[in-house]
Amino acid sequence: MAIEPSTTTTPPGAARSTASVAFRSALDVIRDVEPRVADAIAQEVTDQREMLKLIASENYASPATLLAMGNWFSDKYAEGTVGRRFYAGCRNVDTVEALAAEHARTVFGAAHAYVQPHSGIDANLVAFWAVLSQRVETPALAAAGVRQVNDLSEQDWARLRAEFGNQRMLGMSLDAGGHLTHGFRPNISGKMFDQRSYGTDPETGLLDYDAVRAAAREFRPLILVAGYSAYPRLVNFRLMREIADEVGATLMVDMAHFAGLVAGKVLTGDFDPVPHAQIVTTTTHKSLRGPRGGMVLCDDSLAEHVDRGCPMVLGGPLPHVMAAKAVALAEAGRPEFGTYAQAIVDNARALAEGLLRRGAKLVTGGTDNHLVLIDVSGYGLTGRQAEAALLEAGIVTNRNSVPRDPNGAWYTSGIRIGTPALTTRGLGTAEMDEVAGLLDTVLSAASAAPAAKGGLSKAKHVLDAAVAEQVAKRGSDLLAGFPLYPGIDLS
Ligand code: PLP
Repeated sequence: MAIEPSTTTTPPGAARSTASVAFRSALDVIRDVEPRVADAIAQEVTDQREMLKLIASENYASPATLLAMGNWFSDKYAEGTVGRRFYAGCRNVDTVEALAAEHARTVFGAAHAYVQPHSGIDANLVAFWAVLSQRVETPALAAAGVRQVNDLSEQDWARLRAEFGNQRMLGMSLDAGGHLTHGFRPNISGKMFDQRSYGTDPETGLLDYDAVRAAAREFRPLILVAGYSAYPRLVNFRLMREIADEVGATLMVDMAHFAGLVAGKVLTGDFDPVPHAQIVTTTTHKSLRGPRGGMVLCDDSLAEHVDRGCPMVLGGPLPHVMAAKAVALAEAGRPEFGTYAQAIVDNARALAEGLLRRGAKLVTGGTDNHLVLIDVSGYGLTGRQAEAALLEAGIVTNRNSVPRDPNGAWYTSGIRIGTPALTTRGLGTAEMDEVAGLLDTVLSAASAAPAAKGGLSKAKHVLDAAVAEQVAKRGSDLLAGFPLYPGIDLS
């Protein structure tokens, strides 16, 4: 089943598609000013066409979505919200922002949508701020005399948290698949909040709701965060809301990874976060297949707080990206998107089965969503070695921790793979078995290189060049049958 990412493909017999003409003309205009930029753009699409993209968080946006970003909206300042701007002349920005929000509300069945966040991290910051400002009566930050955030010491942060009252966050641990923005130190959420995390069952690798409940009862967080970057199973959001309600927490779901599966109605009932969480954040560029960006959905009680995202924690809105969000969300509302979302999950399952049949060790033993987490220690490799070896063979993945990872977050023991991008190209379950074969061939052939100080390196690997070449050739032969943007010819 080919799932065409283009909405403007070549009609039969036509010399060149509308999209071809548009992209070629754009490159010509850019080339007149800085040819190296035009060349880099053209090279990027060539690279994306040739590589087997298995990064679970990447996709290929439609030509309509891409083209909606390259225009005069980029020149406009539009701080504020629709109809209430701090700048004059925003009527067209109002049109596209309102359209993006309307499509978002329709696609996800949300009471309110805020489409200004520039990325997933920004969307989460808006959500944290909204929950805090809803709950906190006194402007504690101002009273505490905040200087530059970078100047704050650990004691300053502790004092600020104390002044806010309950500023505790309970989120999924990083090695179980949570995200940095769910209260971890390299992100400001780990400074703003006193954080505790819940993990997964050591035997099954599955989320243990009783353990989450016990942690919530003991810790009594202000925000219970659900959602993940690297958990290959479903989350029961009805149960998570029950836990949040029991301890008086706000349930926030970060659906950045699986928003496309929610939009496509593959995740419904208990597994659809929108009816259960008070606030839901997402990126728009992963399984949702939109432009790079973020979004916040919430119930009416949080709407006014969320809408203060800019300038509270966000820079001015990017109207050109909001235009592209409106286009992508219009696409996500079509019935074909449901077919696409289901195919993502079918493909992930086929990929997992293909790997298991070849002896690979998978976290949780399989998948219910768009991603698979391979524990590459079974191949005698670290995640870092596996990632590099696969890249040599033309397969793009990323390393990821596995639960209780002995190799830490830098070397890791896992490789995370996902199917949104290959599904957009039209690859199906039969091809996924072939992809599993390619992955297994490289991982079986690669080994840890000897370390300079003796023993084995955690960083360097050895892979026979002939194996890398043979797999790269098989991969490009496979992709040749599923051209990316078949309607676009830049030659
Ligand atoms: N939330 C989750 C669950 C993610 O996986 C990611 C990105 O990987 C983000 C947030 C951050 O998104 P962005 O890179 O757009 O800031």
